[in-house]
Amino acid sequence: MWQIFECPRCRKRTIPLGRRLFLGPRGSVVCSGCGGVVGLPPYVRYIFLSMLMVMILIHQLTGSNVLVAAAYLLMMGLYLHQVPLIPK
Ligand SMILES: [Zn+2]
Repeated sequence: MWQIFECPRCRKRTIPLGRRLFLGPRGSVVCSGCGGVVGLPPYVRYIFLSMLMVMILIHQLTGSNVLVAAAYLLMMGLYLHQVPLIPK
C-alpha cells in the first residue's frame, strides 16, 4: 500500500503517499529531491465533489456504510493513479 510518487519536475520518486493523500486543490508539496513545489491540477476539486456525491448517493440508495467505504477506496485508488502531480 505504501507508495512514493514521482516528482513532475525532477522525475525522482520523492512524494510520499501520505503527503499526496492530504493534498487539497490549493495545497502543495516541496520535493525533497529538487526543492521544487508541486501540487494538483485545479480540476481535482470537481473530482472530490463528484466522489462525495457518489458516496452520498450510495448511502441514500442502500443505507450501507460498507458499500460507501468500498466506493471510497475504489475512487481513491483511481484518483491516485489517474490524477497527475504538476509543477506549481
Ligand atoms: Zn523534484
